[in-house]
This record gives sequence, structure tokens and C-alpha cells, in this order.
Amino acid sequence: MKQYRLSIILLSVFETVAVTLWLTKDNLFYLFNFSYIGLSISLGVFLFIRKYKYARRIVQLLVGLYMLIYLGLICQENMQIEGFWYYLFTGVFEAATIHYAVAKIFGPLIFGRGWCGYACWTAMVLDFLPYKEPKEPRRKLGWIRYITFTLSLVFVAAIFLAKAGNIERIMFCSFVAGNIMYYAISIALAFAFKDNRAFCKYICPITVFLKPMSYLSLIRIKCDKEKCISCGKCKRVCPMNVDVTNNSRKRENGTECILCMECVKNCPKNAL
Ligand code: SF4
Ligand code: SF4
Ligand code: SF4
Repeated sequence: MKQYRLSIILLSVFETVAVTLWLTKDNLFYLFNFSYIGLSISLGVFLFIRKYKYARRIVQLLVGLYMLIYLGLICQENMQIEGFWYYLFTGVFEAATIHYAVAKIFGPLIFGRGWCGYACWTAMVLDFLPYKEPKEPRRKLGWIRYITFTLSLVFVAAIFLAKAGNIERIMFCSFVAGNIMYYAISIALAFAFKDNRAFCKYICPITVFLKPMSYLSLIRIKCDKEKCISCGKCKRVCPMNVDVTNNSRKRENGTECILCMECVKNCPKNAL
């Protein structure tokens, strides 16, 4: 059972959130929602431990499609950052606010950027593209994320200040338009930079929350220096250019780790 400890911890964390929200908000949806996500993620971790090659991809599809199709398109919940601002402005602790609090603000203190590796519906598509290992050096374009972050805030603030009618409809349309735009830009960028995750590295506004919180993450990839032979394979396969052999929290691109486990799978000495 010891080897399945992580799977059990993750399931317990999600079940605690599910039951707490169900009871405090008196809404069965939260029990279903967080139980489903928790079960999907712990199933993925379980399959990974059993060395199933596509474990992470299965979780991405289970969670990503659920959030995009069911929550986003059918339930019409705007789970993008604009939805978060919207609920924050209205003072309602529901849907997108809870989603952000759990997955992107407080959750990363435990599971870092697990969201990016296992649940994001944008990356779910990007990870099917051909450039899984970046083919070019990282560019100094991370500042763009602060612009997109600010634009998303200004967009929602403008809707409120303009006292626009039918805001719910506007938020749904912005969810659809925003996703089409994200997919178009991220796929184009992946091919232009020969890097599937270029959008994550330079443009995604959510990383403004994710990066500082994941700096303190409880779950991290660490290197056993006794076993490591400095072959460099882990860094070559890392989609996020993390200096994973350095155990310091300040390691290069340390807050970019999406816990995809590619480095772990490829290390010839089981040093990670
Ligand atoms: S960085 Fe943004 S687009 Fe990339 S996986 Fe994370 S949340 Fe998704
Ligand atoms: S792949 Fe393993 S052995 Fe090679 S540098 Fe990375 S941690 Fe060390
Ligand atoms: S390859 Fe390793 S260091 Fe790089 S993102 Fe994946 S888990 Fe993190």
C-alpha cells in the first residue's frame, strides 16, 4: 500500500474539499464535482505507479473534457480567469471562485502546478502536438502573462462599470470566445516556437497565481544526488525547462514544474 500513498492522499484531499463544500454550501453538486475530479486524479496517479504509459493523458481527458464540455458549455460556468473576476466582483463564493481557490491559489501549496499537468483543458489539446520536448531555448517572454492577466481584469471591470445588462450571457460568450482564442494562439505558438507548452510559459494569465503558490509546493520532484550521473536526460525531456537536478526551491524554472513525471520516467538511474 505504501507505493499508493500519493494516490490516497490526493483522493483524501479532494474528498475533504467535496464533503466540506457539500455540507457548508448545502449543495450536492460540490460533492459530485470534487469527488469526480479527485477520483480521476488519483486514478491517474495509481496508473502511473503501475507504469501505465498514458496515465496522465487519461486524467487530462477525464478532467479537461468534464470541465470544458460539462461545466463550461452545458452548465455555462465560466471557469476561465474572467469567470473568477466576475464571481469575485459579485461577492459570490461559488463555481469559478471555488475552482480557483482549490486548483490555482491554495491547492498549489500542496500539489504545485498539478492543474497544468493533469486538468487544464487547454494543455489537454496542446499535449497532443508534436513538440513534447522543446526544440528551442526558452525565450524571455514571460512578461506577456502580466499583460493578459491585467487585460482579463480590465475586461470584467469594464463590464461592471458599464453596467452591462445580461452579464451572465456576456460571461458565457466570453468563455466560448476566450477558449477559441486560447486554442488558436496556443496551437500557433506551439508550432512557431516548436514547443507545445509555449503558451503556458509566456502567455497564460493563470500562471500569475500558479507560480508564486507552487514555489511553496509540498509535492516536488527531488533528485537523489548519490544516484545521479549528470547525464542531462531529465532536462532534455522536461517540457517546462526545469533544472530538476537542483533540489533548491530557487532552481531555474522551478515554479514551472507541472508534475508531468517525464523526467522521472526517463531517468536511467531512478534518481528522481
Ligand atoms: S499554464 Fe495555463 S494553459 Fe498552461 S496548463 Fe497551466 S493553466 Fe493551462
Ligand atoms: S536523468 Fe537522472 S541521472 Fe540523468 S541527470 Fe537527470 S537525474 Fe541525473
Ligand atoms: S519533466 Fe519533471 S521537472 Fe519537468 S515539468 Fe515534468 S515533472 Fe516537472
